[in-house]
Amino acid sequence: MTIEPADRVDQVPPSGIRRFFELAEEMDDIISLGVGEPDFSAPWAAREAAIASLEQGKTSYTANRGKRELRELIAEDVDDRYDLDYDADEEILVTAGASEALDLAFRALLNPGDTVAVVQPAYVSYVPGAIFAGCDVVDVTTRAEDEFKLTAEVLRESGAADADALVYCYPNNPTGATMTESELEPVAAFAREHDLTVFADEIYSELSYEHEHTSIASLPGMRERTVVFNGFSKAYAMTGLRLGYALAPPEAVAAMNRVHQYSMLSAPTTAQYAAIEALETCGDEVEEMCAQYDRRRNFVLSRFEEMGLECFPAAGAFYAFPECPGEDANEFAEALLEEQKVAVVPGTAFGEGGAGHLRVSYATGLGELKEAMARIETFIS
Ligand code: PMP
Repeated sequence: MTIEPADRVDQVPPSGIRRFFELAEEMDDIISLGVGEPDFSAPWAAREAAIASLEQGKTSYTANRGKRELRELIAEDVDDRYDLDYDADEEILVTAGASEALDLAFRALLNPGDTVAVVQPAYVSYVPGAIFAGCDVVDVTTRAEDEFKLTAEVLRESGAADADALVYCYPNNPTGATMTESELEPVAAFAREHDLTVFADEIYSELSYEHEHTSIASLPGMRERTVVFNGFSKAYAMTGLRLGYALAPPEAVAAMNRVHQYSMLSAPTTAQYAAIEALETCGDEVEEMCAQYDRRRNFVLSRFEEMGLECFPAAGAFYAFPECPGEDANEFAEALLEEQKVAVVPGTAFGEGGAGHLRVSYATGLGELKEAMARIETFIS
């Protein structure tokens, strides 16, 4: 007998970049601009709080929804940043990374056969998350000429009007695109008009370099139809601690918690102590990391310009998304890796909407970035 995977698992295509990273792993002296996580460590005070909690023997489960103290601090933070009032008891769920929150939203808030409109190019987990929940997917493909911003036009043309939910991420992974408040307004109007639930992945919300991030939940009539996803992985450089959260109306949080209480019980306790400290005292470190990302962003964009690589001025997260100078971005990335030992990710790893582009992460020190840019220049000339 063999144990066969379930059909819905077979439906999910294998990750397009796995082979590429396997190749990279076998090589020495690689400069990787392929990573999707900060190169910084979590702020020391947050790490120390985690260590102290372990020393004090705080190793039990927490409440299903997360420690109340943490939920209150999240509520305060969201209120400070967006003037949005979320109830710590009923409208916030602390999860094992934003990843768990996304998975819960698909499974707890959608029915099999519902349609999810996924804004493309997309972070790799949205389509599989929808498929695992038995949903159909419709692609909403943003355009390079719009700098990969979501517009009412692409929403209309893609057939998103008939979907049940819309999932997107701004500041965006993989493109680095951001959306200002006035650019979000037509998206919100579309969601209201067609009665869409919005899954807004705002995990990069602190990393917006040219304008303040606007949460779509703060636009009129949107709070009641939006689930906001955020966490500590990016801004606080805490990827390995696995801590995120969802903000949503009480019925949605209750439904997500119904799944979470059985599948996860509670988010990692040690990480919750780190997150409490992070929110209480680590604002300066977040600002400093942001300032460094911004310096690197300006450097990378200006080097692309010098090389004649077409690249819109990505204003968020830690990614740039230049046009690939070769015919085929997969071949280009592979040859760049083999000849110059620089790893970048072909855009198609994030769906067909990424074709013809490369994702270049600047979550790498400026010294390495300089060397990587020099190698890319040599390669394309
Ligand atoms: N959403 C996006 C857009 C991401 O880039 C990531 C991390 N790569 C996640 C969600 C998952 O974050 P977490 O570590 O909080 O699960």
